[in-house]
Amino acid sequence: MRPLTDAQIRASFINASLRERKGVVLPAAFDEIAWGVREFLGWRDPKQPTLGYLVAELDGRPVGLLMRQTDARPRSRPQCSWCADVTLPNDVVFWSTRRAGDAGRRGDTVGTLVCEEFQCSRNVRQLPPLAYQGYDREAARDRRIEALSSHVEGFVRDVQGGR
Ligand SMILES: [Zn+2]
Repeated sequence: MRPLTDAQIRASFINASLRERKGVVLPAAFDEIAWGVREFLGWRDPKQPTLGYLVAELDGRPVGLLMRQTDARPRSRPQCSWCADVTLPNDVVFWSTRRAGDAGRRGDTVGTLVCEEFQCSRNVRQLPPLAYQGYDREAARDRRIEALSSHVEGFVRDVQGGR
């Protein structure tokens, strides 16, 4: 994704009140974020353990979402809906976010199973195991990166609603 400034991030949230926007805590080591190797920026609030933030680019502009980790615990170890990593390298939890606009104010939310610390961009960049002789692992990795982009984009678009 393209690099964003802290002001752009703060201004990007589409489902946060003014007070919530002012309370956004930027990721630690903000200056060291490797923008070129990520499809979105996701992090947790250091003080509020169930609060997370997601910023992705949609139609050329950054769109930020406040994310809440819910208590819902899947029975078996689930796969992340975004990176779909089959090796389950980290925990996957249920995140919920308010829809933008009136729907969100009425309490309408969208939920998804995603990596606990939003590790998806790192996960999809691991070379997959050799599935068979001649298997193109680099091409498979590229496909996973593209799939991650489109999964995140679809989610953000869904939350944004018809606008
Ligand atoms: Zn993931």
